[in-house]
Amino acid sequence: MSKDSDAGAERFHDRERREKEYKGMLPGVDEEPLPPPVDPIHADTKPDRNDPCPCGSGKKYKKCCGKEKP
Ligand SMILES: [Zn+2]
Repeated sequence: MSKDSDAGAERFHDRERREKEYKGMLPGVDEEPLPPPVDPIHADTKPDRNDPCPCGSGKKYKKCCGKEKP
Protein backbone atom coordinates (compact mmCIF):
# COMPACT_ATOMS: atom_id res chain seq x y z
CA MET A 1 0.00 0.00 0.00
CA SER A 2 3.01 2.22 0.32
CA LYS A 3 2.97 2.68 -3.44
CA ASP A 4 -0.44 4.34 -3.33
CA SER A 5 0.49 6.71 -0.54
CA ASP A 6 3.65 7.67 -2.39
CA ALA A 7 1.65 8.53 -5.45
CA GLY A 8 -0.70 10.59 -3.33
CA ALA A 9 2.15 12.51 -1.77
CA GLU A 10 3.65 13.11 -5.16
CA ARG A 11 0.39 14.47 -6.42
CA PHE A 12 0.08 16.68 -3.38
CA HIS A 13 3.53 18.16 -3.87
CA ASP A 14 2.83 18.67 -7.54
CA ARG A 15 -0.30 20.57 -6.68
CA GLU A 16 1.53 22.65 -4.12
CA ARG A 17 4.20 23.52 -6.64
CA ARG A 18 1.62 24.46 -9.24
CA GLU A 19 -0.08 26.76 -6.79
CA LYS A 20 3.22 28.48 -6.09
CA GLU A 21 3.88 28.88 -9.78
CA TYR A 22 0.41 30.25 -10.29
CA LYS A 23 0.81 32.74 -7.48
CA GLY A 24 4.15 33.76 -8.93
CA MET A 25 2.41 34.72 -12.14
CA LEU A 26 -0.10 36.92 -10.41
CA PRO A 27 1.00 40.52 -10.37
CA GLY A 28 1.50 42.20 -7.07
CA VAL A 29 1.16 39.14 -4.84
CA ASP A 30 4.65 39.05 -3.42
CA GLU A 31 5.90 42.23 -4.99
CA GLU A 32 5.74 45.52 -3.23
CA PRO A 33 2.96 47.67 -4.57
CA LEU A 34 4.09 50.47 -6.75
CA PRO A 35 4.30 53.73 -4.87
CA PRO A 36 1.62 56.23 -5.76
CA PRO A 37 2.77 58.61 -8.44
CA VAL A 38 4.33 61.55 -6.73
CA ASP A 39 3.97 64.74 -8.62
CA PRO A 40 7.35 66.38 -8.36
CA ILE A 41 7.78 70.07 -8.33
CA HIS A 42 7.67 70.95 -11.94
CA ALA A 43 10.89 72.47 -13.03
CA ASP A 44 9.08 74.93 -15.21
CA THR A 45 6.74 76.14 -12.48
CA LYS A 46 9.08 77.79 -10.03
CA PRO A 47 7.62 79.11 -6.81
CA ASP A 48 7.80 82.74 -5.99
CA ARG A 49 11.25 83.70 -4.76
CA ASN A 50 9.80 85.07 -1.53
CA ASP A 51 7.67 81.99 -0.86
CA PRO A 52 8.87 79.33 1.56
CA CYS A 53 11.00 76.79 -0.23
CA PRO A 54 9.05 73.73 -1.36
CA CYS A 55 11.84 71.49 -0.07
CA GLY A 56 10.56 72.15 3.45
CA SER A 57 13.66 73.85 4.82
CA GLY A 58 11.57 76.76 6.06
CA LYS A 59 13.80 79.19 4.26
CA LYS A 60 12.62 81.41 1.50
CA TYR A 61 12.94 79.88 -1.88
CA LYS A 62 15.37 82.55 -3.02
CA LYS A 63 17.58 81.76 -0.01
CA CYS A 64 17.44 78.00 -0.48
CA CYS A 65 16.92 75.95 -3.61
CA GLY A 66 16.13 79.01 -5.66
CA LYS A 67 19.40 80.59 -4.77
CA GLU A 68 20.97 82.13 -7.77
CA LYS A 69 24.44 81.08 -8.58
CA PRO A 70 26.99 83.83 -8.07
ZN1 LIG B 1 15.12 74.38 -0.59
